[in-house]
Amino acid sequence: MAAATTKNISEFQEKLLAWFATNGRHFPWRERRLTPYQTIIAEVLLQRTKAETVSKFYPKFIQHFPNWLALSLANVSDIEHYLKPVGLYAQRSKRLKSLALEMIKRNEVLPTDRRELESMPFMGQYMANAVELLLYDKPFPLLDVNMSRVLERYIGERTMADIRYDPYLQKLAFKVVKHNHSKELNWAILDFAAITCKARNPICKTCFLARKCAFIKSVRRRLL
Ligand code: SF4
Repeated sequence: MAAATTKNISEFQEKLLAWFATNGRHFPWRERRLTPYQTIIAEVLLQRTKAETVSKFYPKFIQHFPNWLALSLANVSDIEHYLKPVGLYAQRSKRLKSLALEMIKRNEVLPTDRRELESMPFMGQYMANAVELLLYDKPFPLLDVNMSRVLERYIGERTMADIRYDPYLQKLAFKVVKHNHSKELNWAILDFAAITCKARNPICKTCFLARKCAFIKSVRRRLL
């Protein structure tokens, strides 16, 4: 197991950032100068949906609903029409409309109090972390199944089924993204999870992390 020592973590960070510089994916929501609305909508749509799928309809969605006011005034059926390419569109549309109405009530200002933030429609741990990272510039992890897969394979497995409540994984994720380029590091891990450390058939043969990867070490042990 590649222990979560400061040296190992910093090596992981630097290698991932170097990889990201040439292999990182380009998506409209990663552009600079996005409005907070555009950032949140992208994160909402990215939940349980592949980034490539979202990138196909995200620009149209933003064009049709350019701000919280437009979204709050829309009919749920109109929102559904634009969300049809993704699963759970009926549920997502209703919740997006609730979030938009709440934002209008709050003069379009998100709460800074963490508990209040998590209690907003469509928020929760992942979305609140995304807000802290992308809007408040704090080193929070975009910890989903993909990031957790990379960290668990490289460093070691969690013990609890739910990512949100596993203290080991939570602590590890925060440690890993604590960096001056936390945003890029988060994206690097997510892109690495999608391109190399895939759920099925990870490309370990040519992976630059293989030498210290816990998953590879356990495979080797089983073969001996
Ligand atoms: S060696 Fe394989 S399992 Fe380990 S980090 Fe690389 S792709 Fe993932």
